Amino acid sequence: MTVHAHPDDESSKGAATMAKYVAEGARVLVATCTGGERGSVLNPKMDRPEVLADITNIRRREMDRAREILGVEQAWLGFVDSGLPEGDPLPPLPEGCFGLQDPQEAAKPLIKLIREFRPHVMTTYDENGGYPHPDHIMCHKVSVVAFDAAGDPELYPELGEPWQPLKLYYNSGWTRARMLALHEGMLAAGLESPYTEWLEKWSDRQDRGDKITTRVECGEYFSVRDDALRAHATQVDPDGFWFHIPLEMQQKVWPTEDFELARSLVDSPVPESDLFAGIREKVEAA
Ligand SMILES: [Zn+2]
Repeated sequence: MTVHAHPDDESSKGAATMAKYVAEGARVLVATCTGGERGSVLNPKMDRPEVLADITNIRRREMDRAREILGVEQAWLGFVDSGLPEGDPLPPLPEGCFGLQDPQEAAKPLIKLIREFRPHVMTTYDENGGYPHPDHIMCHKVSVVAFDAAGDPELYPELGEPWQPLKLYYNSGWTRARMLALHEGMLAAGLESPYTEWLEKWSDRQDRGDKITTRVECGEYFSVRDDALRAHATQVDPDGFWFHIPLEMQQKVWPTEDFELARSLVDSPVPESDLFAGIREKVEAA
């Protein structure tokens, strides 16, 4: 089970990993915390008044398409997007939005879903949200509460039979090492790198590269990831810089998606290359 803040996050964080496990026969469920109602339209070709007026429905249809492409199941947790506050000072978050919820309360729909779907592995974001969007940070909080509570019969007994997932991971976002590898790959191929400026501005505080425990080889599925991402047409510019990096180069230079193991109830020495390491043996024996 992968928990994400908005529709489209599942296609940009760990999507190739999901496609790989689906191909191997695993059932994968994406839990989407909010409807993405306050997301801006980030694709100039879709930035039209009729699109903005119907953004909630359009994003649902985009999510349906991405779900089909990835071969996953998907559930909405039913919260309302907080939007990304901008300005100095930052404006207050809109009333009732996901970012303002009490994590103990807001974890309820996720706990119910865990008890129904019974995942062995969960993924979410790190405590900083991977990037500092209030919905991403709240996604982290509710995921941790839900992971810790779902297996406890004393907690939330009204939400179904207890089920304890065995491992919890954080998606690793950009690390300096990955950006540098792609940057150098582009330059070596005589191509323009979109990362020059980012690398100059990179601060050590942003970098969690040393926290990575798990690298899942999934280059074969990068094209599936890109197709799923493009299905979120209001959120992704198909001419954007991400798509300028040839797939073959990504596959050669950085063929993995990376994760931080945050909780494990099984024996799984790190570093590892499989989110189910230590679980396959246990499940097969059961
Ligand atoms: Zn998001």
